[in-house]
Amino acid sequence: MKFVETLVIGAGPGGYVAAIRATQMGQNVTIVERNYLGGVCSNVGCIPSKVLISVGHRLEQVKHSDDLGVVAQEVKLDWTKVQEFKNGVVSKLVDGVEGLLKGNKVDIVNGEAYFIDANTVRVTEGDNVQTYTFKNAILATGSRPIEIPIFKFSERVINSTGALSLPEVPVKLVVIGGGYIGTELGSAYSNLGSQVTIIEGGKDILAGFEKQMTQVVKKNLKKKGVEVVVGASAKGVEENENGVVVTYEVGGEEKTVEANYVLVTVGRRPNTDEMGLEAVGIEFAERGLLKVDKQCRTSVQNIHAIGDIVYGPQLAHKASYEGKVAAEAIAGEKSIVDYLAIPAVCFTDPELATVGYNEEQAKAKGIEVKAAKFPFAANGRALALNAPEGFVKLVAHKEDGLLIGAQIVGAGASDMIAEMALAIEAGMNAEDIALTIHAHPTLGEITMEAAEVMIGKPIHVV
Ligand code: FAD
Repeated sequence: MKFVETLVIGAGPGGYVAAIRATQMGQNVTIVERNYLGGVCSNVGCIPSKVLISVGHRLEQVKHSDDLGVVAQEVKLDWTKVQEFKNGVVSKLVDGVEGLLKGNKVDIVNGEAYFIDANTVRVTEGDNVQTYTFKNAILATGSRPIEIPIFKFSERVINSTGALSLPEVPVKLVVIGGGYIGTELGSAYSNLGSQVTIIEGGKDILAGFEKQMTQVVKKNLKKKGVEVVVGASAKGVEENENGVVVTYEVGGEEKTVEANYVLVTVGRRPNTDEMGLEAVGIEFAERGLLKVDKQCRTSVQNIHAIGDIVYGPQLAHKASYEGKVAAEAIAGEKSIVDYLAIPAVCFTDPELATVGYNEEQAKAKGIEVKAAKFPFAANGRALALNAPEGFVKLVAHKEDGLLIGAQIVGAGASDMIAEMALAIEAGMNAEDIALTIHAHPTLGEITMEAAEVMIGKPIHVV
């Protein structure tokens, strides 16, 4: 039996960040990981998906730059090399996580943790079983793709992990579920050359983003030839040697679509089952999530939980943020979570990014707001990039202009949203943004101009 002061379970962006912050706070820390350092994010999530997205984007740009005078002939994709590049990026980051943990004197234990009681876990790796007692634990076990019984995962019925390592670019791909993971991957494979159909059960794809934003993405998906079917229910799949036939129902009519693969992205389930938590008496919220307070403490006082296993968006930076709060709380600090300035990004074409409240959410909370928009089409850099689609929208308190939200759709939205998160975090108003000098010509100027619109002093609008 080994004693550990702070035991972290799971080495994803929640767990490894929590472990490092805990050592910075003077704690003696051990991290247990059953699969891969860096978690889903580095190995089979954020990073490899962004590699495929950026390769697809580059290919698409090279193929379609005739308007800019770049006429490329015979552009080819070497899929083996793409996969090698992707795996190389993943290895660099995973090695980096290992180096950081070791450099911060975190003990790394390979194996699967199972709770015996509120101070003891059993860690199993193959035939090796070791018991650890701990003073405090931080659970950061993440999530896994939901498997629906009529779409059992196989060689042809794949989840997001399978989609990142396909042996070839499918000629035809069906995506079930138009959330951000399905739409990002569908869009990436379309750029890589697949004929893509997205089947979504809800009224629209990319729920959670404003309709005026998703319209821009949908228009572009259509331009690429991606078929988006909404209000449709997937009924079943038949597999054959070369692929699948997917049956779905839309508007009371049954339809089929053939493809080489069907990618099922209908959500992710928290990894809170099969690890003895019920016996410890931890309280669960809905859908397998754990109940936590503002310091990420579960109903069992010495056990904290962070990331995909607790309420909120399943995003890597949210997991890391909570990891720091949990580690600081264990050290007796008063740190608490405040989710208002957590951005969410969808790496479609163009990108979508949001932070804080949109107009509708603010109104639903009874907050009186004003909003202002500025288009990419009126920005010199956006035109030079041949990326005129999109807008920046700011949402502020009606009375004093305090910024409480921003929505961006357009090229570079994923980076531009950081300025808005900072503005909200720092309690800035629209005038502060308007008064900040932004370099010319940059996409950042769009944000400044939206702020000028908000305060009624726009230069580039009549
Ligand atoms: P995870 O990263 O899931 O890590 C949990 C770790 O715990 C895993 O390594 C697991 O092996 C380990 N573990 C589980 N149970 C045990 C146990 N009993 N014992 C020991 N170890 C255990 N988020 C973004 O912010 N941006 C993106 O662009 C983005 N893109 C994504 C793309 C895809 C295709 C997917 C699938 C996800 C994406 N995400 C993205 C989501 C992001 O990956 C997750 O929100 C994030 O990884 C959650 O971090 P975590 O630390 O909570 O858990």
